[in-house]
Amino acid sequence: MIRNAEMIDRFGVLVQKLQEKKYHIEYPFEYAVIISPVKNNKAPIDFTLMAITHGNEVVGLDIACELLQKILNDELKIEFKFALLLGNVEASLQNKRFILSDMNRSMGLKAVKNSEEKRGVLISEHILKRTRYLFDIHQTIEPTKKSFFIFPYTRGSLRFASYLDPKRPVVTHWGKGFSKDGMCTDEFVNKNGGAGISIELGQKGFDDNQTQDGLNLVLRAVEAMNQGTSFSSNAIDQPIYTWSEVVSYPDGDVALNSEIHNFDIYHQGQEFGDANGKKLTAEKGGVVMFPKYVQSGMPKPKELIRFMRLVEHKELP
Ligand SMILES: [Zn+2]
Repeated sequence: MIRNAEMIDRFGVLVQKLQEKKYHIEYPFEYAVIISPVKNNKAPIDFTLMAITHGNEVVGLDIACELLQKILNDELKIEFKFALLLGNVEASLQNKRFILSDMNRSMGLKAVKNSEEKRGVLISEHILKRTRYLFDIHQTIEPTKKSFFIFPYTRGSLRFASYLDPKRPVVTHWGKGFSKDGMCTDEFVNKNGGAGISIELGQKGFDDNQTQDGLNLVLRAVEAMNQGTSFSSNAIDQPIYTWSEVVSYPDGDVALNSEIHNFDIYHQGQEFGDANGKKLTAEKGGVVMFPKYVQSGMPKPKELIRFMRLVEHKELP
């Protein structure tokens, strides 16, 4: 928790220091900065890096600070319009995912009820609406066997993700939106003509390996932006998954088998938990995603667990 506050402060100090550099710097709102080689305030933002969209998924803070330090040290040149921002600072200071409103369901809201939603509107209106490529850094609640990209499917997002890492699995979905409330960051960018992707780097918390992994991907994106790379000719090789089964959170006494991790495999008919003394079994089964363990006193989530299947390329719209 103290480390969250320290890193948020460090981000604030580093972005202020950018003024010493030969860039044109804009501060559209607190904990957000837009860096460009020339003054051109109206131009689209080529690349946006976002951290702590969920306040306790803190590894992105480390990555953003490492990147800023490289720019300040002149180890990295920025030859495009680049936005860096922190999502839910308020929640991160309490080491919470969110306080009242999930920032990743607060993009493009028409009316706001609290300060998190207010910040969501600032982010979506001032930055994401004019972002060409978005990289939003997340971490999973439970352990994960693999890091993975996750975003609503568009051709552009898939090609961008695949360029950043042609081996890393992609979890995607198409058709209906992810949530009925406000939009996710990547979804909002996609709806506004850009290509938005999110990544789950590993289980939540500070972790040097995850920092290095995420930083390498961001550096690859920066290099591509500096060279004006288009991602259109990129071949897609990695496994792509989508939901085969979404299990709603049952009423009453629910117990998920202990230590179910993301990317575990559960077969059709296999027991994965218990609700009110009755076995819960996988209807279709597949690869586990987002298992939910609720501690007493915590509100009941909408979903208990998801299972995924591999997607064939020809299925993609
Ligand atoms: Zn998240």
